[in-house]
Amino acid sequence: MSRVKVVEIEKVEEKTPTVKSLFFDWGKDFKPGQFVMIWIPGVDEIPMAIARKKLDFITVKKRGEATETLHEMELDDKIGVRGPLGNSYSLEEDPILIVTGGCGGASLIEGVYEAERLGKNVISCLGAETEEELLFRDEFSHLTDMKIATDDGSAGREGFVTELAAEVIDREDIGSVLTCGPESMMEKVVEMCFEKNIPVQASLERYMKCGIGICDSCAIDGKQVCIDGPVFRGEELVDIEEFGKFERKKDGRLEEI
Ligand SMILES: Cc1cc2nc3c(=O)[nH]c(=O)nc-3n(C[C@H](O)[C@H](O)[C@H](O)COP(=O)(O)OP(=O)(O)OC[C@H]3O[C@@H](n4cnc5c(N)ncnc54)[C@H](O)[C@@H]3O)c2cc1C
Repeated sequence: MSRVKVVEIEKVEEKTPTVKSLFFDWGKDFKPGQFVMIWIPGVDEIPMAIARKKLDFITVKKRGEATETLHEMELDDKIGVRGPLGNSYSLEEDPILIVTGGCGGASLIEGVYEAERLGKNVISCLGAETEEELLFRDEFSHLTDMKIATDDGSAGREGFVTELAAEVIDREDIGSVLTCGPESMMEKVVEMCFEKNIPVQASLERYMKCGIGICDSCAIDGKQVCIDGPVFRGEELVDIEEFGKFERKKDGRLEEI
């Protein structure tokens, strides 16, 4: 079982008004799409995607108590890192199309670095509500043929990133698709890939406590996102009725997304 390693924050980058990246020296090997549990002393332990750019880093969207505390952290503050956990993306047939929305790109950055190492051709579609909220433009523009969509048209194509992805899928001979972001977005992407018979993998977010398949907090139609996922293939997702429709709250109740 992986132990918690206590690390010090070595750099903080403000990415958008609600998102920060925290850098630290964790140093363990991990595969693209795997996640870690971040222990915030005295507050909580929460799942986060991990990536590495010289230092390891997580990218945190402010939501509730734990993520707000991470946003207040300064250089030399300590957090615990447990992992790597979960399965990973498998980088298959290229051109690989990446579709991300909001903070979802955090889970795909390492996949993009890996695809570059493997010499794979990657097209990325990044979506956000506004230009201000767009994430990882630097990472994706260097390593992929990047396209952008914003809901208000302040950058790139005006509209949803799924519309942009549909155009790319119609135009290019896409080999496989990876997606991470809001579940309604991923549901649409999976549906499009099914229509065109393109292999697709999506990374799901569910409320998690243990991260190692014991507590069942992240159960989704009998699967556990922490150990059976977080990455699921399209063929698995069609059998998961809760996908895109319901999520389990902290108290275990199922609620519509
Ligand atoms: C595998 C995995 C990887 C993740 N990677 C990232 C990441 O890279 N960056 C990032 O910012 N977040 C990521 N998350 C989500 C992150 O764990 C939650 O935002 C965090 O736990 C919220 O904690 P909190 O105490 O701040 O908010 P809470 O008080 O727990 O919740 C505040 C609000 O956020 C909602 N929420 C909380 N957890 C989740 C969740 N898992 N899915 C959907 N809604 C949720 C709650 O319903 C509530 O409305 C990931 C989740 C998983 C499962």
